[in-house]
Amino acid sequence: MINYKTYLIFLFGSLAVSIGLQMLLPWPYGLIAALAIFIVFPLFMRNRALKRMGGFGTDTGAGSGGGFFGQGQGVRYICLACNNRFKGGMCPRCGSKMKRADF
Ligand SMILES: [Zn+2]
Repeated sequence: MINYKTYLIFLFGSLAVSIGLQMLLPWPYGLIAALAIFIVFPLFMRNRALKRMGGFGTDTGAGSGGGFFGQGQGVRYICLACNNRFKGGMCPRCGSKMKRADF
């Protein structure tokens, strides 16, 4: 699962690589290579995350961490006993299985 922390690690990692490229390559090429990394890396990570989720793509862009309470990600339910919103088969607050779908 790609979360915010791994995103930051990748971000700083690509930043470090791009700084290295500035040193290795002459000016315009280093900048172009660094920009390419910043464009390609998020796309690569996104594709990998999508593959891991089995094709259930999210379009939030912020990764799975930001979409936890987002809209349109799976089906949420509202507990009929205590009105708690939850995902999954059973209400985590009161344990009731009486529920209705919330869209
Ligand atoms: Zn409940």
